[in-house]
Order: sequence, then structure tokens, then C-alpha cells
Amino acid sequence: MPLFRNIRLLNPAQSLDRRADLLVDESGTIAAIGDDLIAPEGTPVYDGSAWVAAPGFYDMHVHLREPGATHKETIASGCASAANGGFTGVCCMPNTTPAIDAVEVVHSILWRSEGLAVDVLPSAATTKGRKGEELAPMGALYDAGVRLFTDDGDCVRSAEVMRRAFEYASMFEGAVISQHCEEHAMTRGFAMNEGVTSTRLGLAGYPDIAENLIIARDVMIAEFCGDRPYHVSHMSTRGGVDLVRRSRERGARAVTCEVTPHHFVLTDEAVEAHGTNAKMNPPLRTQSDVDAILEGFRDGTIDVIATDHAPHALSEKEVEFQNAPNGIIGLETSIGLACTYLLHRGLITLARLVELMSINPRRILSQHVPLIAPGVRANLTILAPDQPWTVDVGRFKTMSVNTPFNGWELTGKPIGIVNNGQTVWSDL
Ligand SMILES: [Zn+2]
Repeated sequence: MPLFRNIRLLNPAQSLDRRADLLVDESGTIAAIGDDLIAPEGTPVYDGSAWVAAPGFYDMHVHLREPGATHKETIASGCASAANGGFTGVCCMPNTTPAIDAVEVVHSILWRSEGLAVDVLPSAATTKGRKGEELAPMGALYDAGVRLFTDDGDCVRSAEVMRRAFEYASMFEGAVISQHCEEHAMTRGFAMNEGVTSTRLGLAGYPDIAENLIIARDVMIAEFCGDRPYHVSHMSTRGGVDLVRRSRERGARAVTCEVTPHHFVLTDEAVEAHGTNAKMNPPLRTQSDVDAILEGFRDGTIDVIATDHAPHALSEKEVEFQNAPNGIIGLETSIGLACTYLLHRGLITLARLVELMSINPRRILSQHVPLIAPGVRANLTILAPDQPWTVDVGRFKTMSVNTPFNGWELTGKPIGIVNNGQTVWSDL
């Protein structure tokens, strides 16, 4: 296991920000932190002076496609993609086939992820079969390790079902209800954001209000049920940022939200340049929405960067725009986009980036936040925040290639991860 010389150790959760040597031993434990450490015989030594060691990054919104769609991604390939992108943990979404709505499915995912360098935490459906009608067996799912409940891919349409979900989940410490916020009655047959660009292209639109209505409704229900934990998935609108900000001003401490890199980097105009690799749900929005999201990062309204990593086979995406499935892969471009578009533009600090990509998602999911200290099992992301690189989809470990970012020049690159006794170097 490696010795990193003169690396910046950065973990806001333990008020740590200093340069030192960092030695990880054979068992994957942090053996020593200090100046001029002596490396045991045979230890590979790396110059860490341009690198940062942070608590392992965590992507709380990932589609691993297994069970059911292993031609797009598997648990193994998705975790290889996560490691390549600098993540040591992922929370996978329940819109698999079958849906993750039963303990057996949770167990099979956990079993298939055993021994990997990346930890997998399955989310589970809020309702059976993600049909929005009958609540899933939350107690048993919670006992199996699930902390996040969401019908992601679909929105729970019924306010009454949402109320019962919040009330049921309140029996389980640390359980959080999340939502894919979409008023489906307003988005039927949509292909992209409703606006000037959709009109020009003659494509059916998904208006921002269809997202905002559900965020507003759910925040109200969460507060009504006693300020219950509620997490907004892949928030994309100016209105959403405003609703979350205002809920905090009212004192609702349990409302959290995530934003994807593509929603803070691209606008709906990207549809023309990138075709179906710019088709997602929620859709890319307008510059006004992007500006509001950037302000939400700047003022701390946004808690988490999550990718909504959504692999699709090439043949599925190479169809007419309106018929293509939604989503893009994201695990291997997340650090680069976050560094380039948030850190290097001065909107956030590097410490805040660690909060957005490691500490906050772990806390929302009631997962342990790893410490960087001697004697602790190493769970680390190593990144080079100032290193320029060119995105090459040929170097990705995901099985799919649906990204609009191929060929982009970014600044800030994952170097590797250390977790579960394994070191995985990024091949990007
Ligand atoms: Zn979703």
C-alpha cells in the first residue's frame, strides 16, 4: 500500500487541512501521518504535493442497472466506473427490474457488491413496484440497511401516499424520503425543457413548474409531518433552489437537495449540439436556472453533488430524439466538472467541494464519515484539483458511452481511491 509524500489532507468533518506524509499499510489502515515518514521496504512512494487526500467521495444518486438491464451496466462495472471517477461509495436507485422494493433484492445487490473497492448502498422504492400506491415494507428494508426511500424514475403522485411514507419512515432513525420531483400530468410525452428552444425545435416540453410543484408539495408535507427528513433528487430549476432556500429560512432543517453536474454546466440549448446525450429527466433547463443553481452553491443552499449516472446502450440512444431514453453517465466526469465549473470559478472552496461530494451525502444517508487519522481504516479519495485533462470516453470503466462531455478540457482530476483494503488508480 502507498506512501503519499507531502499530500494535502483535507477533511472539514474533523477540521483537518494540513500537508503531511500519509502512509497506508498492507491491511488498508492508515499507519501514520507525519513529516518525513520512513517507508517500510517495498512501499511504493508517490509525490503528493499536487494532490489532496479527502474522505472518500460518495455519489448518492447512481443507476447501476442490475438487476434487469445488465447490457447497460452491472454492479461490478458501475463500481469500476465509480472508482475510476474517484468515488468510494454509491447509493443505487431502485428502478431496476425487479424494483428494489423487497429485502431479497437488497440482499442480492449487497452480495454482488461484496469485495469491491466501492461500497454500494441500495436505496429502496417508497412504494411497491414503484407504482405510487402501496408503501413498500420500509421496516424490513431499513433493517436490511436501506436508508433512502425513493420511487426514482417516477414521482409518487399521491400526496396522501407521501404523507403516509413520511409517517411510516419516522419510525426508523435516519431514514430519509427522497423524490424524483415531476408532476407527471404536466410532462406527458416530453422530450426536453419547455421553453424557447423546445418551441424552435418543435419538441414537447417539460415545464419547470412541473418540478417546482412537487418540491413545494413535498416540503409542505414533510414539515406537516413534523419536519421529517426529505431529500430533493437532481434539482434543476430556479424555483426549486428558491423553495429549498425558503424552507430553511422557515427553520425546516431536514430538507436537503442534490444537483447534478450536467444541470450546473449545460442549458437546454445543448440539445442541438449533443442530441440524445443531452436528453435527461429532469431536462437541461435555461441559463436562468443554471445561474440560480450556481448561486445556490455559492450561498450553501445546495447540499450535494450527485451524478444521476444513467447508462444506456448506444443502440438505445441512437434513435429519434423524442424516443431516446433519458439520462447520461456521470461518475467519471463529476470531479472534473465540479472542480472546473464551481471550484475554479470561485463559487465554492475545496473544503466545500469535499462537503458536497463526500460528507453531506454520507450524513444524509446516515453513513459513517471516514476520518483521516492513524489507526483508521483508509477510505480516501485522492484528487489533483489543479490538473488539466481531456475527457476521453474510451478510458471510462462504465459499459456505456452516453455523455455529452467527451473531448472536454477540464481542470481537476481524480487520481485514485483507497477503500476496503484496496487502492484503485484512476485511468482517466
Ligand atoms: Zn430521477
